[in-house]
Amino acid sequence: MEGITTVFIDIDDTLWWFSRNSEVALETTFRLMGCSEWCHDYKAFHDHYEHFNHDLWQLYNHGGIKKEVLEVRRFEQALEASKYCCDDVDELAAAMNTCYLDQLIKNHHLMPGAVDLLQYLHGKGYQINAISNGFKGVQERKLEAGGMNRYITHLVLSEDCGITKPRRGIYDYAMQLCGAEPQQIVMIGDDPTTDIAGALGAGWRTIYLNVRDEACPSAHHTVSSLLEVKEIL
Ligand SMILES: [Mg+2]
Repeated sequence: MEGITTVFIDIDDTLWWFSRNSEVALETTFRLMGCSEWCHDYKAFHDHYEHFNHDLWQLYNHGGIKKEVLEVRRFEQALEASKYCCDDVDELAAAMNTCYLDQLIKNHHLMPGAVDLLQYLHGKGYQINAISNGFKGVQERKLEAGGMNRYITHLVLSEDCGITKPRRGIYDYAMQLCGAEPQQIVMIGDDPTTDIAGALGAGWRTIYLNVRDEACPSAHHTVSSLLEVKEIL
């Protein structure tokens, strides 16, 4: 890729193995909050949570709800769908969210090749920045895992600029921070919409990390592992 000076990289399921860490965190939360006493089907609870969480994130990414609402409602809806019928469902949901986020950052699985790639890009002289819709305190702690933060110049979070990926404003905000022109920037991410479509809209080049076997023909390059990025940059 010619003329690239600046790399923006997504965090969840690109650098930090969110899906794997989240599985452990959710199951631990379910157990620690005593849910197994009234719900004997963890799998069903898990599937409800994933379903509602996914839909709420779509809403959040498009500016439809606030972070605080997403955090509690995903657990509230999963509890209700699992036939939890006490009056304190909102309190339990809030407590579960706190427990889940706490557990989430205790799990440190990184995507294969994450640190290796950051070291490589750093060695080649690229400025490396992270860009994410995830929550501030949580995302900062994820980057501390494996010492990834030492390679990151700017951490661009939707919470800081008030605009979520894939909306244009966060990419403009990111460009202001790093001082690079669109044609000098490449975005690496696992989400065809928030990462790839968003970055294309800002005139950036794109490398799509295909981890869910879901094609993204609009990306400039598609890789199936982070280490393949070394052949492009
Ligand atoms: Mg991601």
